[in-house]
Amino acid sequence: MIQLTQIKKSFGRNEVLKGIDLTVKKGEVVAILGPSGSGKTTLLRCLNYLEKPNDGQITIDDFTVNCKRPDKKDIHTLRQKSAMVFQQYNLFKHKTAVENVMEGLVIVKKLPKDEARKKSAELLEKVGLGNKLDAYPSELSGGQQQRVGIARALALNPEVILFDEPTSALDPELVGEVLSVIRKIAKEGITMIIVTHEMGFAQDVANHVVFMDGGVIVEEGKPNEIFNYPKEERTKQFLKRIT
Ligand code: ADP
Repeated sequence: MIQLTQIKKSFGRNEVLKGIDLTVKKGEVVAILGPSGSGKTTLLRCLNYLEKPNDGQITIDDFTVNCKRPDKKDIHTLRQKSAMVFQQYNLFKHKTAVENVMEGLVIVKKLPKDEARKKSAELLEKVGLGNKLDAYPSELSGGQQQRVGIARALALNPEVILFDEPTSALDPELVGEVLSVIRKIAKEGITMIIVTHEMGFAQDVANHVVFMDGGVIVEEGKPNEIFNYPKEERTKQFLKRIT
């Protein structure tokens, strides 16, 4: 249901993505691993046009954007098919938890406010924050803020949720609560692409693992294949360094 074909992205002379081909099936959880600077975040951001790819093609469902000659309308449609969970949560600081989740429902989905509030409250309940609806981000821990971020992504009912290192800004003791929420929603069959350094989590929650280095996909496969029987030397070295 998601197909990336020859996605290329440069910043100035720095070619960060050198022609990425990737297919993600509906309901699949894909973990993207790789050393810092390998292009993982850029790839995720290209998928919903937070970064503009220089070349290639992105298909989500039956909708395709030709990145060389994208139409503004196409970009808008593509963006509505995915939701991003950011490293730094990116919540509105002057809005409460429930208002943060509602925002997309009111602005993008044009839902009446009371309906949006009700749905947002249910989603916050789902991520374990039913008692924090009216709290401001400054009153929440990092783990709680990230769970608001996840509820906000879920609210948009996207085809795919993109997680950009969702636990890397958290104190170690808060990582578990966020991973367990992601695990829970993975079980519901929502398609997800997760850039992560949490190897145990990737091994456990992903159906498909992609290893990137130097702007290319070096190797991909089932978690067991990549973690226990990596074929490529670069994958072996990476796994040796971090486990
Ligand atoms: P990763 O997520 O694997 O750590 P990134 O996608 O964040 O890698 O970065 C890949 C490369 O792209 C790095 O060399 C980084 O400096 C560069 N890069 C990322 N974003 C920008 C940007 N907005 N402007 C210029 N260079 C960037």
